Amino acid sequence: MKPPVATLTESFTESVIREMTRLTLLHGGVNLSQGFPDFAAPEEVKEAAVAAIRADLNQYAITWGAKNLREAIAEKVGRYNKIAVHPEKNITVTCGSTEAMIATLMALINPGDEVIIFEPYYENYGPDTILAHAAPRFVKLHPPNWEFDENKLLRAFNNRTRAIIINTPNNPTGKVFSREELQFIAQLCEEWDVFAITDEIYEHILYDNTEHISIASLEGMAERTVTINAISKTYSLTGWRVGWAIAPEQQSSAIRKVHDFLTVGAAAPLQEAAAVALRLPESYYQNLAQTYLVKRNRLVEILENAGFRCYVPKGAYYIMTEIAELMKRHNQPNDDRFARWMVKEIGVASVPGSSFYMNPADGATQVRFCFCKKEETLVAAEEKLKALQVT
Ligand code: GLN
Repeated sequence: MKPPVATLTESFTESVIREMTRLTLLHGGVNLSQGFPDFAAPEEVKEAAVAAIRADLNQYAITWGAKNLREAIAEKVGRYNKIAVHPEKNITVTCGSTEAMIATLMALINPGDEVIIFEPYYENYGPDTILAHAAPRFVKLHPPNWEFDENKLLRAFNNRTRAIIINTPNNPTGKVFSREELQFIAQLCEEWDVFAITDEIYEHILYDNTEHISIASLEGMAERTVTINAISKTYSLTGWRVGWAIAPEQQSSAIRKVHDFLTVGAAAPLQEAAAVALRLPESYYQNLAQTYLVKRNRLVEILENAGFRCYVPKGAYYIMTEIAELMKRHNQPNDDRFARWMVKEIGVASVPGSSFYMNPADGATQVRFCFCKKEETLVAAEEKLKALQVT
């Protein structure tokens, strides 16, 4: 008998983040699991998409991205991220940052290469490395401030290391990597001839005077960095699936080939609207960060009152929480059972902490909530979470 499916696919499970959204739809309740906003996207960006469709922009864009969008990306990245980008040479527009990440790994990795990943990590990076035939090597971020041990990182680098994945601001921890930390990583990348693959999708969602730094802007790093981003989080357009990878010319050309055979291209009319989004004025981004700051503080308050211990994030729109006491009080043996029980019995969805670790035991007393939600959604969660206090 031949195996019914590729064995590679058996080494990872279905995404728990996406599953929690499906469970909420099944049981009803408030979805604070998968990170997508439940409020409207900017009006002018929606209008631009409608206009593009009315203008019959219905056929394929250039496979690596519509010229107008690549120019808008290059302008914005030059200004905000301080990276010099050539729209014709360095950019590949993809179907969301998800495709940008997998296409980048497939374009850069050879079987047997190692990829360093900070843990806890966004769920996709695990399967992404496996699909790219690489061996992930995890380096822990330690709570409460999610710092890494420099010696451990140093020891993770070796001759097989091909890349290190950085995600700043970080999902799920809310950590924002400091200049010093990025400089330390950059030095190791140079020493070991390693690529930095950096997912910066939450770059505009920052709190408490933190600064977003792109590792590609550090000296000597532009030629060994792939910077990944998308319109999803900054403009609340997660369902449009428009993202991109910025890389040196040679790596861009490999990423473009992989991307072309994977998906051909992202939706043409939405690429035109994305260009409008990327040219929004500075005030838009200030407003976004301010809006999320209020939501962060609100959800921290709601969760603390309900008995969760919060790691207050410095960026992105998630809160990692400690639930050991709540688990005991409600007789739930681990994070996964607790999260499933909470959707069904309390009516609030979160993501089990174990989804962000290689070894599920490491996340067994944590769950993650997102706060990219309307005030009324947060109020509804607050009401439901009161039931956790009933002993
Ligand atoms: N980044 C989002 C999260 O962590 C989800 C993204 C997705 O599901 N594609 O919840």
